Amino acid sequence: GTRIRLAGCAKTFPDGTRALEPLDLEVNAGETLVFLGPSGCGKTTTLRLIAGLEMPDAGGRILFGDEDVTALPIEKRNVGMVFQSYALFPNMSVAGNIAYGLKIRRVPDSDRRRRVAEMLEMMRITELADRPIDQLSGGQRQRVALARALAVEPRVLLLDEPLTALDAKLREDLRLEIDRLLRRLGITAIYVTHDQAEAMALGDRIVVMSKGRVAQIGRPRDIYLKPADRFVADFIGSMNRLSGTARNGVLELPGGNLPWAGPDGPVEAALRPESLRLAEEGMAALTGTVISAFFLGDRQRLIVGGAAPEPLIADVPNRIEIASGDAVRLTFDADALIPLSD
Ligand code: ADP
Ligand code: MG
Repeated sequence: GTRIRLAGCAKTFPDGTRALEPLDLEVNAGETLVFLGPSGCGKTTTLRLIAGLEMPDAGGRILFGDEDVTALPIEKRNVGMVFQSYALFPNMSVAGNIAYGLKIRRVPDSDRRRRVAEMLEMMRITELADRPIDQLSGGQRQRVALARALAVEPRVLLLDEPLTALDAKLREDLRLEIDRLLRRLGITAIYVTHDQAEAMALGDRIVVMSKGRVAQIGRPRDIYLKPADRFVADFIGSMNRLSGTARNGVLELPGGNLPWAGPDGPVEAALRPESLRLAEEGMAALTGTVISAFFLGDRQRLIVGGAAPEPLIADVPNRIEIASGDAVRLTFDADALIPLSD
């Protein structure tokens, strides 16, 4: 894998749209880095800068290893790209599509055939070699797109929402397969998505973006457990807001008082649904009323009113039968609270 660096890369489009504030970023060799953020935050623009499809504003630099590629056109950067919409040649066969980049690079015939066969096998689509693209399912097309991107042994693989157009089950299967593939190949990969589950599952590290800026960079567990700010906290996973008052060793909330070791004063915090538990008899707890209960299979999700200023989302074990209208008592460990300053 190749280490990729962006230094001071901003992007302003000719119409004046500021898509990206100056970005400094390092992608480690062999790492899968995921860009995650809502639509319009600048993910695709960043990917296009790395690919060479867009130029950064003056002063921005892009390095592949020690090579400055800022001025290199896309065909000289040796990047592999996979998009949400397949961008395959519909009238060409699967094998023809995979061979395309090799042909452009004037790879000799015999090498080309061998490489295409390897790619077909790697993506487990050998039996589709002669099919035209327009006879393939969405999942099969993305396999072809991956095979085509990897055939040229790119220095970096760029994936822009490659699974977004697929249905849920297929998306998960292909996600697992991409994960295995990237790990086996040890290739540097940059993966763009607005889907947090995908980001968590695939990323060695995640870059959370908001309005052309990096909100947080970190391992999935750090992003999830220690979100840097309110935006990240709300964007990743479900999150509760808790505001209460700490006084005389307790945190006062509408549904009751919980033991509190921190200083007195207002408490503004966030809390994950899985951090809330059903309290045992005799334990200090917040009392509330179940507004709705969703059975999710592996757990059930309760929306509980009256316990905190805003309804709480609580994920509890699936075995206890709970329905809307039930009174519940909830508790949590104080160290599960995520402090929110802003
Ligand atoms: P994302 O991929 O995160 O959804 P994009 O990188 O595509 O976001 O876009 C970031 C911002 O730049 C958006 O406001 C978008 O409308 C704008 N933008 C993207 N491409 C162009 C362009 N060619 N000209 C003008 N504005 C653009
Ligand atoms: Mg995009």
